Amino acid sequence: MRIVHSFVDSEAAVEAPTWEVRRSAVFPLDWIIEDVDCAQTPYETAFFRHWGEDDLINWERDLVPTLDQFKILATCPELLCAWDYIVGTHSISRVADVRNQYRSIAPEDGYADAVGLGFVKISQVFQTQWPRGAMSLRQGHPWADFDGRLMTWTHAQGLRWHVHRPLIPHTKYSVLKEG
Ligand SMILES: [Zn+2]
Repeated sequence: MRIVHSFVDSEAAVEAPTWEVRRSAVFPLDWIIEDVDCAQTPYETAFFRHWGEDDLINWERDLVPTLDQFKILATCPELLCAWDYIVGTHSISRVADVRNQYRSIAPEDGYADAVGLGFVKISQVFQTQWPRGAMSLRQGHPWADFDGRLMTWTHAQGLRWHVHRPLIPHTKYSVLKEG
C-alpha cells in the first residue's frame, strides 16, 4: 500500500488534526507513506508518480480518518473506494441520472458515479487496467478541478466508486464555520 498525503504549509489550522493522525497512527510497516508538500510538488504529479506500482490511498490534508478506516479501505476488495465526507452541506458522493444531473447519494447507497478524492483507495488492478496515458490529465494544471476531471473520466468508462461510511471529519469546513 502506498499513501499519498498532500499538504499546504500555509494552512496549519486546517491541517493540524490530519497531521495528528499522521504522527500518532502506527501504520503497517510495509506501507509507504509520502508526505507531499504541494508547494514543491503538484498534487496530481504526486498522485501519478508511482501509478501502477501498488495500491494507492490518496489522503488530502484536511480529512481526518482513523487508522482502522485506512485498514478498511486497504482490505476492501473493490477496485475503487471512497470514504464519504461533507463539503458544505452535502456528501461528496454523487450519482448521475440519465441527463447527467448529479445528486448526493442517500446513506444506504453503496456506490457512486462521482466522489471527492479526499480519502480514496485506487487499487493497483485498476491502475494497471487504466494507465495514466488514458486519463489525458494535463500535468501542472491547478488541482482545483482535478476531482472533476478524473470523475468525468471514470464515469465515461461506466465505472462506479464503492462508498464507505460513516462520514469522516473534513476540517476545512469545521474551521471555516468556527471562523
Ligand atoms: Zn470499498
